Order: sequence, then C-alpha cells, then structure tokens
Amino acid sequence: MSTTSCPWLASYPVEVSHKLSYPDIPLYELLLQTAQAHPDTPAIFFMGKEMTYAQLLEDCYRFANALQQLGVTKGDRIAIMLPNIPQSVIAYYGALLVGAIVVQTNPLYTERELLHQMSDSGAKVIVCLDLLYPRVKRIKQDTMLQHLIVTGIKDYLPLAKKLFYPFVQWKQRQRVQVKEGEDAGVYAFTSLLARSISAPVRTPADVRHDVALIQYTGGTTGKAKGAMLTHANLIANVIQCGAWFYKARQGEERILAAIPFFHVYGMTVAMNFGIYMGAKLILVPRFDVSMMLKLIDNQKPTVFPGAPTMYIGLLSHPELSKYNISSIEACLSGSAPLPVEVQQKFEAITNGKLVEGYGLTECSPVTHANPIWGRRVNGSIGLPWPDTECRVVDIETGEDVLPGSVGELCVRGPQVMKGYWNCEEETHASLQDGWFFTGDIGSMDENGYFYIVDRKKDMIIASGFNIYPREIEEVLYEHPAVKEAVVIGVPDEYRGETVKAYIVMRKDEEVTNEELDKYCRQKLASFKVPHLYEFRDELPKTAVGKILRRTLIEEERNKLQTK
Ligand code: AMP
Repeated sequence: MSTTSCPWLASYPVEVSHKLSYPDIPLYELLLQTAQAHPDTPAIFFMGKEMTYAQLLEDCYRFANALQQLGVTKGDRIAIMLPNIPQSVIAYYGALLVGAIVVQTNPLYTERELLHQMSDSGAKVIVCLDLLYPRVKRIKQDTMLQHLIVTGIKDYLPLAKKLFYPFVQWKQRQRVQVKEGEDAGVYAFTSLLARSISAPVRTPADVRHDVALIQYTGGTTGKAKGAMLTHANLIANVIQCGAWFYKARQGEERILAAIPFFHVYGMTVAMNFGIYMGAKLILVPRFDVSMMLKLIDNQKPTVFPGAPTMYIGLLSHPELSKYNISSIEACLSGSAPLPVEVQQKFEAITNGKLVEGYGLTECSPVTHANPIWGRRVNGSIGLPWPDTECRVVDIETGEDVLPGSVGELCVRGPQVMKGYWNCEEETHASLQDGWFFTGDIGSMDENGYFYIVDRKKDMIIASGFNIYPREIEEVLYEHPAVKEAVVIGVPDEYRGETVKAYIVMRKDEEVTNEELDKYCRQKLASFKVPHLYEFRDELPKTAVGKILRRTLIEEERNKLQTK
C-alpha cells in the first residue's frame, strides 16, 4: 500500500497543486530574499528589543566575514550550542553564507555527549553560550575544534536590561567571565562582529548534494548519528510547510519561537519558515511558561509551533486566565502524540487551530500533518505533506500492508536526508531506493490518514526530548555496583513519558536510588536521568540472554490498566 498524498486534493484549495515547485537555491537565499523584500520588517523580537531583516542580514554578513577571517571555508563544520537568542539565527545564517555545514548542539549536553558530537562531526568552530564555555573548554583538546566563539544572553539585550544583567547573573551564581585571548582561539561574539565588515558573502552551493546541516539523532545504537540534510532538503520542507499553511501572509505573521532552533523542528518550522515568510520571530530562550504567557499577551503571535508539553504547560498555568492569548491562529504540534483533550482546551481559549503533525530529524523534519483548515482526524498524524510518498510495510516481510493494518512507516520525498554522516552501514539499513524506514509503527486508514501506534526503536520521548535507552544503560553499566540495567519509558502525565531504570546489583554490592541519580547527573543531560528506579534480582530474558525490554513495558502498561 502506497499513497502519494492524493487526499490533499480534497482537503486543500485547488490552487495548492500536489506537485510543488522547489527553487534550486541555497538555504541562505531565504534570508537574502526576505531582507530584500521586507528590509524594515521586524525579524526578531528578543527581551524587549527588535531587529529588522536588514539589521539581521547585516549581522549575518559580519559573522560570515569574521568566519572567513578565521579561515573557515566551504564544507567546514560549525557547531552552534545556543538557546533561542538572536545569536543563534546570526550564527546559523552566517555559517551557511560561507558554505559551512551547521551542526546544531543541544546546550544541555554533558561533556561526554558533547565530546562525541564534536569528534564525530569534526567541527572546527563552536559558537556557545558563556555559561557553557567551561564545558566546551574541557573537551576542546580531544576534538578538532580550533575556535570557540562565546556569547551571552546579555549581548543582545536592550541597554537598560544589559546594565541590570550582571546583578541577575550574580543572584543566580552563574557568572562566567570569558576573556577574549585568555586562551588561544577564544573570541567574544560581539567584538568579533564589531571588528568585522558587512560586505556581502554568498558561497555557491550544489543544492542537491551539498550538506547544509548535520543534525544528530539517536537510533537504537545508543550513540547519536548525524543526519545529513542538504540545502534542497531543508528548502523543500519550508516550501511544503508553506503549502500546508497556505493562508499565511507574507511579512505579517508573528511566530512564537519557543521550540528550540537546535532541534530540527524548531529550526525548520519556526526559524527557516518564519524567515521565508518575512515573519517576526518572537524568541523564547527557555521553556518558561510565565514568560511565554506574557510574550503572547504582549507580542500577539499568530503562529505557535510546539510540542504537546508546551501546550499542556500553558493550559495548566495557574494565572492563564489573566492573559489574552487569543492572537494565536495556527499551531502545529509535533514530536509526540497530542492528547485530544489538550487540543480541544487549547482551541477553546485561543482563536486558532492546534493540529497534530509528525516528522523526524532525517526528514527535515515534517512528513505529515492534519490540515489546519480542512478535515482533521483526532489521534491521527494527518496526511502526508505534498510530494511525500508513504508506505506501511510488514516488519517481518517488508511487504506493503493493507489500509488499517499496522507496519513500519516508510517515506520518500524531497525532504528525506542524504544519509548519515560517516555511517554507511546505518545509511544503507534505513534508506533504500529513496525510501526512508522511519522505525515508527503505524497504519493508514481508508481515507489516507496516518496513525502512529508504537516505536520500533525504543526511543523515549520526555517533554519533547528524545532519549535513547541504550545510552543511559551504558552509563548505568559503568557503575561498579550495577550488574545489569535496562531502561524504558513509562507514561507520565506531564512529560508524556519519563525514564525508568531496572537494576540488578552485583553480588555483595549495594547502591541506592540517590547514589545512582547523582552518578547519572554527572554523565547525562538532566532530561535523560532516570526518574524512577526498580531493583530486581533478575530481569526477564530471551533464550539467548537478551533482556526482554518489551516484557517490562507491558508490565508497566498492565499496572496502569489495573489502577
Ligand atoms: P526527532 O528525530 O527528534 O524529530 O524524533 C522523531 C520521532 O518522534 C519519530 O520517529 C516519532 O517516534 C516521534 N514523533 C514525532 N511526531 C510524533 C507524533 N505526532 N506522534 C507520535 N510520535 C511522534
């Protein structure tokens, strides 16, 4: 069974043809074209300060020139380890202008995770937040990093807030002083820009082959792999997003950019799509519900892409009724299943639509969504986006299954990645004839709507973050008291899922929850640290000794059902 997304014709206005046209342009052209068409339109709103598209482009050119001065050339990898602040947009587009490949890095990564990503990608430059500088500095000598560009939240604050900022930092005991030149290869973002020139830079790209982004994602192997997304892949997903959101108005939308740009979803649907539309990006540097409510009330965003946890967070805020959030017209929820109750409540208090979509890092990321204005189906991830072919195949035989039957979801389309960076074997295993095997188990109904029922891979999604059990298990196995460890995701009202670890202790060894918690916190980003531990004498296993993770997942499900 294969579909070429014909249901779109029924759900969409006739002018949205099934075959979209995709311009053969490098990704940075999105910004150049918008800055030319809407130079004075606000591009970014951050903590009370606005920046127009012309100003944004000027800073991107300055950053690109500075990179060239540092010796960055086409194909070099530049890591960006920043929350949603103006510098994350400037560094991203600046890097693309010089033909570099961006490596987005989660600011929550520990040294161990960061070291893997930096060594695997061979990044030459990293742009990081001042608070993260000590972490980056400690791993630098074991990587190919030559230059560290350091920036702070305060760098782009309005003057009054900038003056006040040192006191806030002091109060939080987080003050990190970075002196340029203190170590060889350390630069302050703002001085680098101030010293640089704003002459246009435009490195030509072979858009179907040249990689614009290496985006790390887990998989069953434990270690993260870099999905190579070309300029054409990323442009395609932006154009597909435009077809889905066909009522969006050029130069008039305001996007609440709360979903991090270091995740491919925030990067495409909030940042790149926003820039393509000439929208104002209202930056939210951390998931702080009070801050978001104030911003919505004050800045009146029309679009709010997010993960279910974000909508749940807003709905459960005790002071929600004090704020006017009716400006929101369209929300795309992705990363995890969207509870119907949340969708209905959210729509009741905004003027807008909240629809569920689906995607993966390897697909730039979006492949499916419910129509915003057409027929949508609760519990479904919706219809494939234009030009996205889908199949559901039997896991054992690889044969297409009939509508209504469950199998592995496979997708093919212009947004599907080129392959994994330096991972030929994994690339061959997951990409065949242009078909990407998603590892998600789902089905399609008679009307062409898709459903996700489970994950073939054992990934856990907690608060929109992907967590790979193998990685946590590896850390637990390193503890001297641990004989066996297995990690699963268990349902959690707030986070969607949370991490539970089952431990078998070595003979004559003792370890407590608290000790393991402390131990994991030193080695893993906090969102990966198990919330629950269960100690057992033995774990269920197959005849060949493989731990039966599924049995534990089912035990948890049964416990919930009998509650
Ligand atoms: P990522 O590569 O970080 O974008 O994560 C992709 C994974 O998120 C997919 O393989 C799915 O398992 C999961 N996912 C994304 N959207 C949904 C959704 N609407 N419902 C269920 N799972 C989802």
